[in-house]
Amino acid sequence: MTMGKKTMLKEALVQLLIWIGLARATRMLLWRDRLAILLYHDPDPATLDRHLTYLSKFCDLVPLEDFNQPGTGRPRAAITLDDGHAGNAELLPVFIKHKVRPTIFLCSRIVGRPRMHWWMHPGAQRAGLERLKQQSNDARVAELEEAGFHQDGDDRATGLAIRQIEEMRPFVDFQSHTRFHPILTHCDDTECAEEIASSKHEVEALVNRHCEHFAFPNGNYGPREIELVKAAGYKTARTCDIGWNDQRTDPFRLRAMIIGDEASTAMFAVQLTGIPRLLKYWFRSGRWDGRFPQF
Ligand SMILES: [Zn+2]
Repeated sequence: MTMGKKTMLKEALVQLLIWIGLARATRMLLWRDRLAILLYHDPDPATLDRHLTYLSKFCDLVPLEDFNQPGTGRPRAAITLDDGHAGNAELLPVFIKHKVRPTIFLCSRIVGRPRMHWWMHPGAQRAGLERLKQQSNDARVAELEEAGFHQDGDDRATGLAIRQIEEMRPFVDFQSHTRFHPILTHCDDTECAEEIASSKHEVEALVNRHCEHFAFPNGNYGPREIELVKAAGYKTARTCDIGWNDQRTDPFRLRAMIIGDEASTAMFAVQLTGIPRLLKYWFRSGRWDGRFPQF
């Protein structure tokens, strides 16, 4: 082994020990008996299996609807997955194996039909996703139409099929993530109200069960969005703000831990501290409170 490689290895080992220390410290000091709401999108079954195996060693896996239960003296985690990606169907054996009841937030007018999540369309990717997200909703939809994407038109399916939702229904809690996944803060009042309220009824029709939980697309929300979520009759809303939850947390601003779908177990442990996201948000907005940087 060359000297350079030895130094690099030593450096990596030091980093690892620091992160193990930080992971332990956040668990003891911050997570304690509070609830971490893990946010995934489209992980593969093997990765999720490794993550849940790691979590089960020190943490109770609970359903999201237990968000306001008193602490048990142990760290708790709820598993949530956003958008209703078709790949989520393959996770069912992992959910059953770990006895976890996850929440999948569906886009009610994308799943169950041959439709695409707008950011997965090649036209959207060519146009630049971050730039599209900055536009008013009308402008974004119009530009996507030009690029060949029609949000209310059939194309290729990127979401769960009706048959898959039906198969998962006994083991999975399906809730709402709007109809088409717009940036709500860039919608006009009517559009925003419709995306929030109609998706609730559409998810209920889809799964034949009450829809009571909402997740803000892309983590964008403000006072108007919170009022509309309450008015529509939801009990909670999950944000992309970083942190843990307890009985004092505002149920309409539930905090999350954003997990990379492909995170190695070591990286997963690091992401559970919340520190990488906190730094990323601080870098973008100058705020240390974990609030997702709004446009
Ligand atoms: Zn989403």
